[in-house]
Amino acid sequence: MTYPKLKPCPECGQEMTLFQYESGWWRAECDPCPETVGGIYIGSCEGRKLDAIRAHNSRTAPERNDQ
Ligand SMILES: [Zn+2]
Repeated sequence: MTYPKLKPCPECGQEMTLFQYESGWWRAECDPCPETVGGIYIGSCEGRKLDAIRAHNSRTAPERNDQ
């Protein structure tokens, strides 16, 4: 299975990293953020890697509805 590319951090523009916690939850995090915005940017916690990517991507770049 292929996953969508994780979009850059909406705060600092740098690449996000996906973490899986021991509990099994997935979450996108931005490590450079603590210095740039005073706090680490984190995506929402999801039970599946794919959902964590989707949740972050949709939050970062809302789908455009030009029509
Ligand atoms: Zn960031």
